[in-house]
Amino acid sequence: MVDLRSQYLEIKPEIDRNIQEVIDSCAFINGPAVKSFQQDLEKYLNVKHVIPCANGTDALQVSMMALGLQPGDEIISVSFTFIATVEVISLLGLTPVFVDVDPDTFNIDPEAIERAITPKTKAIIPVHLFGQSAPMEEIMEIAGRYNLYVIEDACQAIGSDYYFTDGSSRKTGTIGEIGCTSFFPSKNLGCYGDGGAVFTQDDKIADQLRIIVNHGMAVRYYHDCIGVNSRLDSLQAAILKVKLKHLDEYAQKRREAADYYDKAFSGHPKLKIPYRYPKSNHVFHQYTLVTKNIDRKGLQDYLASKEIPAMIYYPVPLHLQKAFKDSRYKSGDFPVTEALANSVVSLPMHTELDAEQLSHITKSVLEFVNR
Ligand SMILES: *Cc1c(COP(=O)(O)O)cnc(C)c1O
Repeated sequence: MVDLRSQYLEIKPEIDRNIQEVIDSCAFINGPAVKSFQQDLEKYLNVKHVIPCANGTDALQVSMMALGLQPGDEIISVSFTFIATVEVISLLGLTPVFVDVDPDTFNIDPEAIERAITPKTKAIIPVHLFGQSAPMEEIMEIAGRYNLYVIEDACQAIGSDYYFTDGSSRKTGTIGEIGCTSFFPSKNLGCYGDGGAVFTQDDKIADQLRIIVNHGMAVRYYHDCIGVNSRLDSLQAAILKVKLKHLDEYAQKRREAADYYDKAFSGHPKLKIPYRYPKSNHVFHQYTLVTKNIDRKGLQDYLASKEIPAMIYYPVPLHLQKAFKDSRYKSGDFPVTEALANSVVSLPMHTELDAEQLSHITKSVLEFVNR
């Protein structure tokens, strides 16, 4: 699904030099590389505060802790996402409230949000799934009307923009109170291990986040609240500093691969190509087709026989997972989510796909669906 080796070889000298520098300095924890990457990312995102942390799941968790959310508070999010988004809601004793998604964008449906709001609702967590923004203008409008926090899960969409009706734009993850991202190796801005970050424009929330990721400590050995230990390694920061410079060019390569796929599959009666939401520029974390009347497992097996991986993101919606069996949800509650889980398939998507690979993939998919 990804080709991290070829991508590394393209930038090897600079990556190796940065890694060696960290090792030579022995500043493994919170070294200058972390601060330097943090500042670069603040500039890139045009956001006041970036707080690096250990992974995207932690980013989501510390965000909810920093906003002071309490057990019993209801948090609205989607069932069609990676579990991390909702896992941390439950872990903190908060109550996840699922809503359905839009069948075209796969992102949270603002009308469904409004129907799910109760007096206990405290926050909305939109996920910018597969690389394009959720409808932030509608979400922020609802949040404003009901006085709710918005925590953006931008783990799959770093670098994509949201275009407001007034013509302005912002990077995803910098529109709500807090944005979260992951630097997991296969993410659009991936490091060589685990990593994550939280973004905010708010000075007070930023201070709280910095304390929480550091054992609840502003002054060494004086603990103001219960926090966690969540840091970005200096080595990972040194790698990310190089890769951030290439992020826009990487997104462009992903878009070119997506354009190739689109051309091959557009108009096919059994394949629906990814909808391009006009208020965002897709950075194609995934290229996800919706299939119609095909044996999806058969397609995966056929592609596997041609050495082409194809993945289902995500085969079981969260509300139907064993982990949430005690929640109030049942099969049939979220028809769009459930239909997508049964019909989507994602093709290889990364920065190193060449014409030969793309041609092999598209031909193989069409061979199967046309027979
Ligand atoms: C990857 C991902 C996460 C979690 O990130 P980790 O760094 O793996 O903890 C959370 N939400 C979404 C939507 C993701 O894709």
